[in-house]
Amino acid sequence: MQKNAPFTEITRTVDLSAETHGQRAKCIQRLIRLDMPVPHTVALSFETVHGIAAGQVIDTRPLLGSFGADSLVSVRPSPAMQEWGGPTAMLDVGMNDTMLLTLSETIGAEAARALYLRFVQAYAVEVARLDPELFEPTEPTRDALVQSLEIYEEEMDEPFPQDPANQLAAVLKSMARAWEGTSARLLRQAKGAPPDAGLGLVVQRMALGMGAAESGSGVIQFVSSETGLAQITGRYLSQSQGRDALARRAEALYLSRDSRGPSLEDACPEAFAELRAFGDVLRTGLREEMQIEFALDAGKLSVLDAVRVPRAPRAAVRIAVALAESGVISKEDAILRIEPRTLPELLHRQVAFDAQRDPIAKGMAASPGAATGQLVFSATAAQACAAQETPCILVRPETSPEDIRGMHAASGVLTEKGGMTSHAAVIARGLGKPCVVGTRDITLDLRAKTLTTRDGRVFAEGDTVTLDGTAGACLAGAPRLMEPALDGSFRTLMAWADQARDIGIRANADTPADAETARRFDAEGIGLCRTEHMFFDEDRLTVMHEMIFAETGEARGAALERLLPMQREDFVDLFEIMRGKPVCIRLFDPPLHEFLPTSREGIWNLAEALDLPVSTVTHRIEALSEYNPMLGMRGVRLGIAIPEIYEMQARAIFEATVDVSLKGAIVTPEIMLPLVSARREVELLKTNIDAVAAAVRNERGTRFGFRLGVMVETPRAALKAGEIAEITDFLSFGTNDLTQMTYGLSRDDAGRFMGTYVQQGVFAEDPFHTLDADGVGELLNIAAERGRAVKPDLTLSICGEHGGDPDSIDFCRKAGFSYVSCSPFRVPVARMAAAHLAL
Ligand code: PEP
Ligand code: MG
Repeated sequence: MQKNAPFTEITRTVDLSAETHGQRAKCIQRLIRLDMPVPHTVALSFETVHGIAAGQVIDTRPLLGSFGADSLVSVRPSPAMQEWGGPTAMLDVGMNDTMLLTLSETIGAEAARALYLRFVQAYAVEVARLDPELFEPTEPTRDALVQSLEIYEEEMDEPFPQDPANQLAAVLKSMARAWEGTSARLLRQAKGAPPDAGLGLVVQRMALGMGAAESGSGVIQFVSSETGLAQITGRYLSQSQGRDALARRAEALYLSRDSRGPSLEDACPEAFAELRAFGDVLRTGLREEMQIEFALDAGKLSVLDAVRVPRAPRAAVRIAVALAESGVISKEDAILRIEPRTLPELLHRQVAFDAQRDPIAKGMAASPGAATGQLVFSATAAQACAAQETPCILVRPETSPEDIRGMHAASGVLTEKGGMTSHAAVIARGLGKPCVVGTRDITLDLRAKTLTTRDGRVFAEGDTVTLDGTAGACLAGAPRLMEPALDGSFRTLMAWADQARDIGIRANADTPADAETARRFDAEGIGLCRTEHMFFDEDRLTVMHEMIFAETGEARGAALERLLPMQREDFVDLFEIMRGKPVCIRLFDPPLHEFLPTSREGIWNLAEALDLPVSTVTHRIEALSEYNPMLGMRGVRLGIAIPEIYEMQARAIFEATVDVSLKGAIVTPEIMLPLVSARREVELLKTNIDAVAAAVRNERGTRFGFRLGVMVETPRAALKAGEIAEITDFLSFGTNDLTQMTYGLSRDDAGRFMGTYVQQGVFAEDPFHTLDADGVGELLNIAAERGRAVKPDLTLSICGEHGGDPDSIDFCRKAGFSYVSCSPFRVPVARMAAAHLAL
């Protein structure tokens, strides 16, 4: 039994909400309250429409009665959220042989015939579900109409329905059923709709838009969807209905006189002026930039509908800031209107949203942005391109530290393997370059230098492709790109976000360029400087090799002695760029073999550089290789086995501290120990580092402080956080390794099956992307509790890739962490997400 009336006439005063009747019905009511000339409209609630889909019959006669005799009506979907779509709108319901005669009198025979023909075609396809090919739109001649009616009758074994009430009943039923179909449900669920999302319908008297004098229809908005800047866009088409003007742009008029061709403003200046005024009324009345659907009937304007202006993320920022600056919405509202995840779109070049896309590979969107360049298949080729200033896209099965210089040289990186925290993904995010990983649908032939797509297309070195790291795709050719949008609106919005948030945001930065980016995006310090990346430059790599190949302590000492000044300069640079903001430096982390070549050519070059036989070099590399290097001799294990490395790094940090302090800056370095699993490791290294600090203070005759912390990356370190916290100032959770070790899941290989796992619901999300609050999160909570129990003012943070993910930031905020640290290009996302969470 229906609790409420099956339909509601929309008036100023009626009780109507988006939760019961949908967003369109609610919006039409607002238009009516703002005195817009909206034709009579009736709304059907979710409950009614659901009932209709289930077979309930509603009496469409009283419904139509409210429109008066001889009215045609439109029926449009009204879901709770505009984005969820819905069945195709039906126009001109009520058209029949009698109306054809009536309308022929008022709007002319040809216009009347066109309406009827269009309705028959739409009804046949959408309601009777006949083959669309039988009803392709044609010129509205008398023959065409007769023919369409005949085909209908032949196919359906009954004449085209003439009773408007029956027509309407069939239209309502067909739209209600379409909404409940499986494919429609899956489609809207993909856009965030709950499985049981309801559909409302609105029935509105048709403004015909056809007939004598100036009649037609159009769509207008007052800002650009691409940039958000004030700009009247849309089209108007004489003798048309619905959104015809957009579908048939070539025939349509522009709106304003300032445009590139004939305009509505020229054809009908009063209507244009009225529309402009409506735009202002809606902006303040609905507190939003709206796109208006309108019709003209012999010069008389009707507003049929209005929807939020569809917008690219950069436009969304400009619109929100402009609305707040003009006092239409509050700053808090402006912040909340920007989805943090959309911000990377502003920070990088992007494929224009109207560009032609020809995808050749799909994978994980590991680092956002877009770049066009020539395909190359090796780091060397990438460097050769860079030397000639030719942009290139580096394609590799996966990347290793050997490829870093190639990644620097390339404009974008695509790897066949890997996941969100694989080497390529992490480095590319740090460099702010687009990156796509885990592309399972391509085959690489590194010898032939070709990439073959699943459908057999072959791309060779030198071919132009475009990498879309935002969408996770590689496209053929060079589609149009949009430039970054770091303008005044962006800065203003970010400053508002900073006032609102209550957790610190630092950046992971290894190089001066990273640090500059971190500053540019107003990071509050460096939360992780991965020092090993500093040793890959040509001159240093050679010295690293000497250090690794040293047979004696003396020889190793000599190599480290040469690395010291280079490393000191690295830290001087970082301290100077960060101007007093904290810089957290992680001591050397990876296994040494990562610095050694794997190719025959590389080994040969190394032997030559070190003046050693190739066999010696090969043996040495073999001796250093491990079965499971990520669980092998790396991090503090290396720091304890070969203490001279960490001692050199500590000295470089302290000497840089003194040098920069002498110039008047305040520097308090933070030193972080990676891959700790036992308190004793920290004790041993703390003793060494304290000794180096004392020595430098002594030598330089000056005082300085530093903070020592532990990077919690092993489950054991999390469990033993109480013991560890006693002798450290801070704990920073390295959630990449901690996730890897908690799951026993290789971060470099997970990409291969992660898609399947998420699809099948084994994991709700990729745990390398969004912190696994249940499992890994429990370890974080245990560590925080045990650490704080012994040291209430212990600084806690995370510095894994999760630092830039809004859900993970939410976790850290709730756990009371001081800050999160993420890739420099994620800093704005993190600042915005933190503001959302605090508001
Ligand atoms: C981590 O493990 O979370 C981390 C930040 O370190 P890396 O990614 O360098 O292993
Ligand atoms: Mg780690």
